Amino acid sequence: MPDEPAAPKPKSNFIRDIIDRHLASGRFDRVRTRFPPEPNGFLHIGHAKSLHLNFGLARDYGGLCNLRMDDTNPETEDQSYVDAIKEDVRWLGFDWEDREYYASDYYERLYEWAVALIKKGDAYVCDLTADQVREYRGTVTKPGTPSPYRDRSVAENLDLFARMRAGEFPDGSKTLRAKIDMASPNMLMRDPLMYRIRRERHYRRGDAWCLYPTYDWAHGQSDSIEGITHSICTLEFEVHRPLYDWFLDRLGVHHPQQIEFARLNLGHTVISKRRLLELVESGLVSGWDDPRMPTISGFRRRGYSPESIAAFCEKIGVAKDNSIVDLPLLEMCAREHLNRTSPRAMAVLRPLKVVITNYPADRVEEFDAVNNPEDPSAGTRKVPFSRELWIERDDFMEAPPPKFYRLSPGREVRLRYAYFIRCDEAVRDASGEVVELRCTYDPATRGGDNPPDGRKVKATLHWVSARHALDAEVRLYDTLFTVRDPLDVPEGADWKAALNPGSLETVRDAKIEPLLASAAPESRWQFERLGYFVADRRDARPGAPVFNRTVTLRDEWARLVKAGRDAA
Ligand code: ATP
Ligand code: MG
Repeated sequence: MPDEPAAPKPKSNFIRDIIDRHLASGRFDRVRTRFPPEPNGFLHIGHAKSLHLNFGLARDYGGLCNLRMDDTNPETEDQSYVDAIKEDVRWLGFDWEDREYYASDYYERLYEWAVALIKKGDAYVCDLTADQVREYRGTVTKPGTPSPYRDRSVAENLDLFARMRAGEFPDGSKTLRAKIDMASPNMLMRDPLMYRIRRERHYRRGDAWCLYPTYDWAHGQSDSIEGITHSICTLEFEVHRPLYDWFLDRLGVHHPQQIEFARLNLGHTVISKRRLLELVESGLVSGWDDPRMPTISGFRRRGYSPESIAAFCEKIGVAKDNSIVDLPLLEMCAREHLNRTSPRAMAVLRPLKVVITNYPADRVEEFDAVNNPEDPSAGTRKVPFSRELWIERDDFMEAPPPKFYRLSPGREVRLRYAYFIRCDEAVRDASGEVVELRCTYDPATRGGDNPPDGRKVKATLHWVSARHALDAEVRLYDTLFTVRDPLDVPEGADWKAALNPGSLETVRDAKIEPLLASAAPESRWQFERLGYFVADRRDARPGAPVFNRTVTLRDEWARLVKAGRDAA
């Protein structure tokens, strides 16, 4: 059983302040929020922020949070996205119980409300083309020009609107528009569209409708229908708020309070579904759940836990100004949780053979290894040791620079849990590459303990017994983009140009300890000295394990930045 997502003490923020005021003044007597994704792509880490906010507020105020698909655009939406969204929301630990709603279920109600607005003289059928609508709308500095159809009679509007629904007119030939103010400084108030004619099959409604509501018309009313008290959305909807308020006031229906907060941006990646879709469709990543993607399903395959995503969302908090959060913060949250919960194991990514010349060829010993030093209840396991071992190629240097304390000719090191070994000789192949180290062990250091003579070593290496090792594929990742803000490119330039060609490195002949043969899909491990890894949930096969590195053990980046600073 995974832990419930951490529910740390609620930090106060401006949204909670507003809710507190509403509860105190009696404007609302309960808290009802919703998470309203459009099923046109997979959820990303920005959505996790919104989920934590909306479900978190409901939890903390004893209210409820709905899940609603804001599905008003038949061209881009699909059931497969609905399924993926639900799976991700569940995986993050949120339960919408029976409150699963669809804007597309409200089409009838929205239609009736549109008729009500027509009757009040607040909406009209317009015959301008899309280009003309744009032209007539004016600019920020120039007021718009009223549509020649603006003053159609209520009777004519009702007749035309009914016939639009009945399918009498071709796509794009007519729209329904709200009659607001063509001179408003807010461009969105200049008679915005409410309905378009579009003969497009909807993934849920099929061909029932040829008339589709705009997002602006559907969104606020959907919140109202559900009795939402606080409609929390991202900052770009601040300018839409007067429009949403206008609709609700004219209809005289339940009026939620919209509150805007800054969307999450993450460094060295992009998190907009449109861009992520472009990466998927162009084959630049293996899919929405590619472990390099900032999607929830990508993070899941990468090995991030729901708990670490929760901790991350809590840390970044909510604010009113847009900014970019850097990956090391997320990685820190991941390390913090994985350190406490991941069993340790030994694996060698770039194997170099070690032969212990004074160890009998047929002997096998088993040493006790600690499963998790942070969690004594995790116990110990047996790790087999024999004459031939694999160690990490990087752990040997023929001519070591100062401060390299690992293996080199004549140098002694500790093999974790096993023995001290000394390197006597490096064997080369014809090309001069070191292919084997010949070493001797000291029986007085059994279990990796210091010998009675008090000799010490400065390095402890991980290793795997060659005869017991299994081969594994291990995937190592770097950031998806080489720059912090990939979208910061000159007009017309391709934002995908800064994709990191080295974002995925596949190691095919890693050696892992036998225990890992039975690693369950999605089980998370710490490979000693190498980082946190997860057994890939898609590609691992019995006898052919595949592990993805979630994060390294230390913040290498911060270390390098610091090293650069110290050197300067
Ligand atoms: P995108 O631009 O990625 O398509 P969106 O806002 O169009 O995002 P929706 O599916 O409409 O995506 O979003 C569902 C909810 O998640 C909305 O309430 C939206 O405000 C919120 N949300 C989307 N992106 C972010 C983000 N980066 N940070 C915080 N909340 C977000
Ligand atoms: Mg959207």
